[in-house]
Amino acid sequence: MDEESTFEEICLHWGEEPERFLGAIVPPLFQNSLFAVPSVEARSSSRYIYTREANPTTDLLNAKMAALEGTEEARCFASGMAAISAALLSQLRGGDHVVCVKHVYYPTRLLLQEHLSRFGVEVTFVQGTHVEDFEQALRPHTRVFYLESPTSINFWLQPLEEVCALARAHGVTTIIDNTWATPLFQSPSQLGVDIVVHSASKYLGGHSDVIAGVVCTSRERIEAIHREMTLLGGILDPFAAWLILRGLRTLPTRLQQHQHNALQVAQRLSTHPAVHNVLYPGLPSHPQHELARRQMRGFSGLLSFTLKRNSREAAVAVVNALRLFRIGPSWGGYESLALPMRIEDYDGETRWGLRIHVGLEPAERLIADLEQALRVAEG
Ligand SMILES: *Cc1c(COP(=O)(O)O)cnc(C)c1O
Repeated sequence: MDEESTFEEICLHWGEEPERFLGAIVPPLFQNSLFAVPSVEARSSSRYIYTREANPTTDLLNAKMAALEGTEEARCFASGMAAISAALLSQLRGGDHVVCVKHVYYPTRLLLQEHLSRFGVEVTFVQGTHVEDFEQALRPHTRVFYLESPTSINFWLQPLEEVCALARAHGVTTIIDNTWATPLFQSPSQLGVDIVVHSASKYLGGHSDVIAGVVCTSRERIEAIHREMTLLGGILDPFAAWLILRGLRTLPTRLQQHQHNALQVAQRLSTHPAVHNVLYPGLPSHPQHELARRQMRGFSGLLSFTLKRNSREAAVAVVNALRLFRIGPSWGGYESLALPMRIEDYDGETRWGLRIHVGLEPAERLIADLEQALRVAEG
């Protein structure tokens, strides 16, 4: 990537060549499965033959994602889970051992624990807040440390530089799910992580209208990723890639607003009488706030809080009483969302609470909505 390009420039214009396409300010969508060539001989020199292998629209997204993550290469997939499974499968064979953070995205946990175990892959889950957690779990055949920092229900971080140094010393590959922070708020490759994965269904798309995933890594490692993509076939459809490119244009602006709103909401919740604890790395009260400030540049819009009235009924009643926040899974779109959840709090106790996605509505309106809903859990 051009050293001078800012995140904003990459998201807006970088890598686009309007002069090649009649001046079209938005790069055209190549929604085609195959590419014809002028002669049989030309086939071998043409980059584009069949869209499962390569497509110009998807290539533009690959290039922008690599530039944003500061890696040499990237490949897009049909979902975050397709990206995660490609990243893992590219590194693992039967008999290998994975050390994974225990609060990892749940389908990733299932993939390791119940699916890859069928092929002889072993996994150890660790808290992951200290490098010693990984050190103690190391075995002679450990091949991968699978990281997610912060995790997306209780927002524990891993000390990435230390964990990557340990991994490198033992020939272990590090993979991180960077969905929560996005490339704008955290650059794992600069901290030593080998492979960065994203669910682009969240902030990168940003409009809750597309499912997609991305793997970003070095030129050396991309071949294995590319092979997973073309042989397992979980490619991103060009139209979905085009939608993610559109979403990226406003990513920096959206994230600033998510961050601003989430911080206001988190601060208000942390002084609310019905709230036991707020789990958000952007708050100074977060046990790893200092680490968060060191390895991240900002904080996005997903957070959790636990309730003093520690019961499922109370959490459900609060969620049902919300008006602006819709009830639903996922996050990273423009809209505010809430779900009742059992959350392992920072003292190790599991309590009932809510996971909320703070959307782009005005912060005061969101706070007012939470305050009126929390009345059902007061006293
Ligand atoms: C949603 C999510 C995924 C999976 O992404 P899909 O696009 O739904 O397959 C992976 N990791 C995290 C942290 C997520 O939130």
